[in-house]
Amino acid sequence: MDSEKEHDDEPIPISLVANYIFCPRRAWLEAAGEKVESAQISVGDTAHKRVDAPTLTDDATLFHALDVRHSRWNVSGRLDAAQRTPDGMVIREYKATPVKQSMQVTDAMRTQLALQSACLQDMGETVLGTEIFFISHHRRVKVELTDEDFHKAEDAVRQVREMINAPAAPAPLEDSPRCLRCSHVGICLPEERALGTVTRRVMVTSPDHQVTHLTTPGTRASSHDGRMLVTKRGDEIASVPLDTIQALQLHGNIDLTSGLIRELLWRNVPIMWCSGTGRLYGWTSPSYGPNGTARVEQHVASHEGRLGLAREFIQAKVHNQAVLLRRSDPANSALPQLREIGKQLKNCNRWQDVLGLEGEAAALYFSQFSALIKPAKRRGWPWVARMRRPAPDELNSLLDYTYALLLADCIRAITACGLDPHAGFLHSSSRNKPALALDLMEEFRAPIADSIVQTVVNNAEVSPQGFSHVLGSVRMRDDTRRSLVKAYERRLETEITHPLFGYKATWRRTIEIQARLILGYLDGTQSSYKGIRIR
Ligand code: SF4
Repeated sequence: MDSEKEHDDEPIPISLVANYIFCPRRAWLEAAGEKVESAQISVGDTAHKRVDAPTLTDDATLFHALDVRHSRWNVSGRLDAAQRTPDGMVIREYKATPVKQSMQVTDAMRTQLALQSACLQDMGETVLGTEIFFISHHRRVKVELTDEDFHKAEDAVRQVREMINAPAAPAPLEDSPRCLRCSHVGICLPEERALGTVTRRVMVTSPDHQVTHLTTPGTRASSHDGRMLVTKRGDEIASVPLDTIQALQLHGNIDLTSGLIRELLWRNVPIMWCSGTGRLYGWTSPSYGPNGTARVEQHVASHEGRLGLAREFIQAKVHNQAVLLRRSDPANSALPQLREIGKQLKNCNRWQDVLGLEGEAAALYFSQFSALIKPAKRRGWPWVARMRRPAPDELNSLLDYTYALLLADCIRAITACGLDPHAGFLHSSSRNKPALALDLMEEFRAPIADSIVQTVVNNAEVSPQGFSHVLGSVRMRDDTRRSLVKAYERRLETEITHPLFGYKATWRRTIEIQARLILGYLDGTQSSYKGIRIR
């Protein structure tokens, strides 16, 4: 009740109402804190930066970045510019429509101008006129507002308030050309929500989140002049523009200065720390994040349990294990049993049965794991069983490390959409592990992690000599770790044909999309979740 009251008392931003006119779901995403960068937004932002510092110019009649508010409608916003004339104010809004598009004054722009005018009038000013300045075209277009514009604007404010307080996200637009120019398409996934082949691929403007890894022990990274400088014993060994870092992962004993940590937090770039053996110690999390309400839904759902979701993670995992085995050994004796377990999982309605079948499939799959290794190599890479921490042999050591890398990617994907990596559906949150990240990871274990281990061994990218043996546990040497991280990044940046949607996407983007589908299931955009199944 209190949170509703808080929403009701807060003024609605004028920009949110304008976005609502463009698409209610876009406004919902913005209200939920989803931020994206697009070329059009950055052009607009640069232009806005020039007018965003509140100023009064020399002639004392031209105002920039003027804050306005309408007390009865309870909306507020900032005007780009307003010129005072003897007869009243003229409002000017700057827009970054690409040159190839015509200078069209849209409904959203009219609503924005109407709200700004209403605010100024409410503050006791007379508004003489409104205009849009199209930045890329360098042209000004006068806009004559009508009574209908003001009625629509007031009504839109009411609708936005209702939308913000609604329990579920508005559905995406269907087959709409607006999605083609929407900055939020990469997180909204309008066509993917049907969980079937996407016929018209909407291009995602934001790039996949590439990760910068620091793997040399004893190095120190600091921020200087917009770059990350990496030094060892005072010698510079790398210098990376901060703008190109979308995530930073540290392996082993590496120091970061607090200035660099602060800078990356400010840029919303996650930092992950893991040990030299691949144990993930933790990650940074900025104070502000999107989808707080969905996160609450996640905790409730996690507490209540969602068997369908848990079953789907496991069904996809078992399917993918069988496919990976089949690719190396089509006649493998475990395949019929794995397929049978897949069928039984479909009809499982009890938690203990799902977990029992998952354990059975894992035991079968790992009993055959050496089938993934070329026969000529098996002698140098002995395999007995899957054993963790400490890894008793080289293959288990590679698996441990690759799973940790994959876990870090799943955590990044989950936190990027505002969900809590610790509130899971299959893995228990009571074990104090990042349960949801472990859930999401299940379907990617075979096609990403196991497959990378298979590749680096079969292609001799690592050798059995690249490990040290300490009291029965096997550890990677630095060069082996570097080779594995390189192979991991290569795989994550490899484009595949997305098994569900049929378009090309990198493995990393595929993980991000799956995290968004979990979010969609929780915020009510979709009724179910579908795991990735390779062919
Ligand atoms: S992608 Fe389409 S449905 Fe989604 S927010 Fe943008 S315009 Fe709306």
